[in-house]
Amino acid sequence: MSELVSNFIRHRIETDLASGHWAGRRWRGSPGTGPEQAQAEPDPARIRTRFPPEPNGYLHIGHAKSICLNFGLAQDFGGVCHLRLDDTNPTKEEQEYVDAIIDAVRWLGFSWSAFGAEHLYFASDHFETLYAFAEALIEGGFAYVDSQSADAMRAARGTLTEPGQPSPWRDRSPAENLQLMREMRDGQHAEGTHVLRARIDMASPNLNLRDPVLYRIRHASHHRTGDRWCIYPMYDYAHPISDALENITHSICTLEFEDHRPLYDWLLARLADLGCLAQPVPEQTEFARLHLTGTLTSKRKLQALVSSGVVDGWDDPRMPTLEGLRRRGYTPAAIRLFCERIGVARSDSWIEPFVLEQSLRDDLDGHAPRATAVLDPLLLVLEDWPEGQTDTCIAPVHPHHPELGQRQLEFGRKLWIEREDFAVTPPKGFFRLTPGARVRLRYGHVIECTGWDADADGRPIAVHARVMPDSKSGSPGADNYKVKGNIHWLPEDAPEAEIRRYGPLFNDPNPGARDDWLDCLNPDSRSSIRSRVETGAALCDPEQRFQFERQGYFVADRVDHRREVPVFNQIVSLKDSKALSR
Ligand code: ATP
Ligand code: MG
Repeated sequence: MSELVSNFIRHRIETDLASGHWAGRRWRGSPGTGPEQAQAEPDPARIRTRFPPEPNGYLHIGHAKSICLNFGLAQDFGGVCHLRLDDTNPTKEEQEYVDAIIDAVRWLGFSWSAFGAEHLYFASDHFETLYAFAEALIEGGFAYVDSQSADAMRAARGTLTEPGQPSPWRDRSPAENLQLMREMRDGQHAEGTHVLRARIDMASPNLNLRDPVLYRIRHASHHRTGDRWCIYPMYDYAHPISDALENITHSICTLEFEDHRPLYDWLLARLADLGCLAQPVPEQTEFARLHLTGTLTSKRKLQALVSSGVVDGWDDPRMPTLEGLRRRGYTPAAIRLFCERIGVARSDSWIEPFVLEQSLRDDLDGHAPRATAVLDPLLLVLEDWPEGQTDTCIAPVHPHHPELGQRQLEFGRKLWIEREDFAVTPPKGFFRLTPGARVRLRYGHVIECTGWDADADGRPIAVHARVMPDSKSGSPGADNYKVKGNIHWLPEDAPEAEIRRYGPLFNDPNPGARDDWLDCLNPDSRSSIRSRVETGAALCDPEQRFQFERQGYFVADRVDHRREVPVFNQIVSLKDSKALSR
C-alpha cells in the first residue's frame, strides 16, 4: 500500500509504536488466555489486526475496504493480520461461506501466514475459553442469569430518555448463577428461558451498557462444533474476547460499533482484572463503511437477490460480491487500488461507481493485451480486391510494450466492420464510413465507400468499398492519404463469440434505503450479443483480460468461455460512460 492510505488509524498506530504501548505483549504461537501467554516469548508481531467476517454469505466490495485496511496496516507496520471467521451464530453459518471467504481474501492478494504460522482462526475455536470466562465473570459478580422472558427484558430496558429497570434476578448469588449457567450449558433448559447478562448499569445513557446479554440458549447444531454446545455467546461478548485471545492490538471496525466500544472496554478491563487476560488489552477504532452508489452492501440483501433468482448466483457479474466482481473481470490489483483511492475516514460518504471503474482501467491499461472485436458485425465487401487473396496486417499486442510481440490480421475481400462505424446519412462530426467517404481500416488499407445493400426495412446488410492503392499502414505511400476515420475490422472467417454487457442492477442510487428495494431493479441490467473476435482472443484461457480496441476492457468468462463459443464479459468501457458516445 502506498502513502495514499495515510489516515487517522495509521497515525494512531505510529503513536502507539513510538510510545512502546504494545511492546510488552507475549505470544505463545497461538491464541491464549493471559496466564497462557504470560509464559511465552515476546510477540514478534509489532501489531496484530484482524478481518472478522461472519460466514453467513459471500464477501462484497465493502468487505474489500476492511480487508485492504487491516491486511495493509499489518504489512506496513511489521505486523500480522488474522483472518477470523466470526462463527458464533449456529443458525446462519455454513461451510460453503467459510470456503468462499477464504478464497476471496486469498484472491485479493492477502495472506495470514506470518512468523512461521497460519493465522486463520474461528471464533468457535474459543468456545471453551469464552465459557470459562463467563464463569469467572459470574464468580466476580459481573454477570448473572436472568430468567425474564424476552418481552419482559425488552420492556425493562428503558429508552434513550428513561433509565431501564433492574431485573428481579439481578441480585442472584454467584453460586446460584453458576449453577444455572452450568445447567444451561448442560442442556437442561429450553430456549428463551434464561440468558446470561453482564451486570453493568441499567441507568446508563448508553443502552449497550444496560446489562447486555452475553449468552443465550440455542439447541442448534453448529457447522464446526456440531451439537457440543447448546448455549452460544453473543457478538458483543465473543468479539472483544476473541480479539484479546488472539493478541489483537488494533481492533478496527465500522462506525456502527462506536456505541459498543464502552462495552468492549468494560468487558476486557473486567477480564484483565480477574486475571483472565493479559494487559494491555486490544483497543477498538472505528472507520466509515463503504457505500457505493447504486449498489447494496449487505450480505442479507445480497442473499435475497440470490435466493429470489433475480441474479444467477453469488458470482453473477452484476453482483458487488468479490465473486461477482471477479467474474465480471475485475482484477485484485484494481480492487486494491480502489480501496487505496477511497481512503479511510471517520465520516460516512458515498462513492460513485466510476471510481471503481477507473481503477480497473488504470490497472489494465499498462499491461492488458490488445485485440480486435467487432461487437455488432456488418459485412464489408472490397469490390476491387481479388477473391482469395489475403494480405497480412501487423498490429502490436500492446502499443507501449513491443516486447509483448505482434498479432496478425488477414486482410481480404470480405471483412467485418462495426455496424455503428457506417452511416448512410451521417450526423454532424461523423468521420467514419459513409457513402463516398474514405477511412483507414486500422493497421490495413485506406478504403472508399462505393455503396451499400439494405434489407426490406432499409437496414444496411453489406457495405461496398474499393481499396486505395499504396495505402497500407506502415508503407511509404500511407501518408499520401489524409483520412480522419480509423476503424477496426476482422476477416470474414474470424471466430464468433458471445459478448455479455452489464449495467447497474438497480435504477435507484440507494436501493438499500428502500423497503421495496426489490422493486427498483433495472430491467436492462444485462444484454448479450453475437460478435466476432480475433482468433487469438477466441482461443484464450478463461479469465484472460483484453482491451478490445476502441471498445473497452473484456474478460473471457470464468465459467462459460469456450463451452460452446468464446464468451466475454465487458468489464468497463474505455472511457467513463458519460464520455462514451463518440
Ligand atoms: P453484512 O451486513 O453484509 O453482513 P457485516 O458488517 O455484518 O455486513 P461482517 O461479516 O460482520 O459483515 O463484516 C466483516 C468485517 O467487514 C467487519 O469488520 C465489518 O465492519 C466490515 N465491513 C462490512 N461491510 C463493510 C463496508 N460496507 N465497508 C467497510 N467495511 C465493511
Ligand atoms: Mg454481520
